[in-house]
Amino acid sequence: MKVPLLDLKPQLAALRPQILEAVTRVIDSTGYILGPEVTGLERKIAQYCGTGYGLGLSSGTDALLAALMSLEIGQGDLVLTTPYTFFATMGTILRVGAQPLFVDIEPESFNIDPDQVAEALATDRNNGRRIKAIIPVHLYGQCADMRRITTLATEYSIPVIEDAAQAIGAECPYEEKGAVTWRRAGSMGLCGCFSFFPSKNLGGIGDGGMLTTSDRHFAEVVQSTRNHGAEPKYYHSRVGGNFRLDPIQAAVLSVKLEYLDSWHAARRRNASRYRKLFRDAGLVGNAVALPQAVYADVPCADQHNHHIYNQFVILVPERDKLRQYLQEHGVGCEIYYPLCLHQQECLGPEQYKRQSFPVAQQAAASSLALPIFPELVDEQLVYVVETIREFYQAR
Ligand SMILES: *Cc1c(COP(=O)(O)O)cnc(C)c1O
Repeated sequence: MKVPLLDLKPQLAALRPQILEAVTRVIDSTGYILGPEVTGLERKIAQYCGTGYGLGLSSGTDALLAALMSLEIGQGDLVLTTPYTFFATMGTILRVGAQPLFVDIEPESFNIDPDQVAEALATDRNNGRRIKAIIPVHLYGQCADMRRITTLATEYSIPVIEDAAQAIGAECPYEEKGAVTWRRAGSMGLCGCFSFFPSKNLGGIGDGGMLTTSDRHFAEVVQSTRNHGAEPKYYHSRVGGNFRLDPIQAAVLSVKLEYLDSWHAARRRNASRYRKLFRDAGLVGNAVALPQAVYADVPCADQHNHHIYNQFVILVPERDKLRQYLQEHGVGCEIYYPLCLHQQECLGPEQYKRQSFPVAQQAAASSLALPIFPELVDEQLVYVVETIREFYQAR
């Protein structure tokens, strides 16, 4: 049996006529830069995330870059973030001339550890206040501990840029004025940065991204940043770039957005099924550590996107051998991410490599992402778990 890590064909087959219609509409309009398709999607995404504004950007990476540039973060500044994420989180910090300051992650969620965020901020207060932003990443589709992170950020007056690239629609309990409400990724910090890379839960037919915010002034600055800092046209009080979302992508994404919650639900259903299958196979607590849905048991979680499972990531011994075995048996899987950011060669000599983040490094050494996309059928899930059981049985 073949179980690909991700197969976009069934989703395309279901939506093909609508997608072709949307693309044709843009082509026939001859309006190829921004325009009503982009504005329409911006409004819908802002509404979906619970923010005042959405700004279409060329990618998730450019959303992060535009956020940092709009905050005028650069040389001499530090940005507090996690070492266990996709490269773009750090790459954009370096590209504006700032330096990442890493703290370790929590073992349960793989997300930045708020206790260590608190420590880093306290230390920074005595070291000249160089931290100019915090970028928590909602890894694999589950929100970081935003209650604590935004409380700390407010205390220190530091903006929070949510890297929500993997987490559109993901919700977490959030305390406001003494009451607990559920809030969506991208609505709790100053802004949220989203990616429409084809493998994300809401993926385009190419690159695309979005920045959400409820801060009107910041929205205006980002709007100018994505268009070379021009305001009005040909007058540049600041330097921006060409970070605009393509209207063809916006038109396709508008079609797909209608189905997003049903896809989240299907991914969650697959995750529950995996949990049962792994337990029944006697693998849990033995060889396989399942991903923890940290908000699943908070009351009301059932009606909420407490996890959108952009990835279903298990921790296993002999990970590389298991990965090879699965691939040989037709099961697609991937390592997100094999090398922590503080160990990346592009950082150059010493400084970072000497640091150690044991939880992140342990995750990098033992994590494996399994197929979780919505259209998987039960036999495929059964086959994945059965193949993993075979591997460990033979040892
Ligand atoms: C995908 C991703 C990005 C970058 O998004 P692109 O659209 O590919 O530029 C940034 N951060 C994280 C955590 C991601 O998963």
